[in-house]
Amino acid sequence: MSVGFDHMALDEIQKRGIRVGYTPDVLTDATAELTVALLLATARRLPEGVEEVKNGGWSSWKPLWLCGYGLSGSTVGIIGLGRIGLAIARRLMPFGVKRLLYTGRAAKAHAAEVNGEFVPLDTLVSESDFIVVSCSLSPETQGLCDKPFFSKMKSTAVFINSSRGAVVNQDDLYEALSSGQIAAAGLDVTTPEPLPTNHPLLTLKNCVVLPHIGSATYSTRGVMSALVARNLLGGLRGTEMPSELTF
Ligand code: NDP
Repeated sequence: MSVGFDHMALDEIQKRGIRVGYTPDVLTDATAELTVALLLATARRLPEGVEEVKNGGWSSWKPLWLCGYGLSGSTVGIIGLGRIGLAIARRLMPFGVKRLLYTGRAAKAHAAEVNGEFVPLDTLVSESDFIVVSCSLSPETQGLCDKPFFSKMKSTAVFINSSRGAVVNQDDLYEALSSGQIAAAGLDVTTPEPLPTNHPLLTLKNCVVLPHIGSATYSTRGVMSALVARNLLGGLRGTEMPSELTF
């Protein structure tokens, strides 16, 4: 009941001839929406603000108190302009984003819709004000966001990951966040999940961590469930599955 299939032993599954159903497309909008919410919450420091209201830290008006970073006039870099990456880009452009950069294995025709510029990863990392990771997890993307990656980012840039936790080296991310190498990070996915409550990332004010809720709307989970059931019936009957993973 997911679009990601990195958690399965694909070699063994293939060897045994097991058919796999999955749930692409139906969760794209919900996941993109959550990613945008996480980006805004992280960049505009919403969890910190909510906490300050509750703990009495909200006092007289101060010009720079709880200032963050806005999307208007910014450069956004999307790592993996697939189904979800494109849906994120579509939602971000109306905020006044100036440039939309993306990386992947190949340029995408659908990038034209969001004026996306296909650039090398290094260019995306060094020129973006917001970096959003929405690629699939593979041997190629595992640990992609590591120390050299964060060291090329602007110190005012915000990093968002709603793909899979293992795309990020969390020790390196902690270092980048705590040293001021980058401004903030928002993660919907971590390694491991659940993230232990004593994890160093949870001690940082500039790190917003969500419990992998990208597709968690009532309607999306309903549609996913129905698709899973139809996939399963197809598998049991030996007929077509509505969404079958092809190897
Ligand atoms: P898609 O297959 O449509 O998109 C994946 C994208 O990853 C493709 O555009 C692909 O680009 C890109 N990609 C692959 N390798 C690289 C690379 N080395 N560098 C940059 N980009 C790369 O999948 P979806 O958009 O439907 O889903 C993406 C991922 O989101 C899922 O695999 C899953 O892990 C995650 N997800 C998370 C959810 C959550 O709750 N947080 C919910 C749903 C999904 P190319 O085609 O050029 O290879």
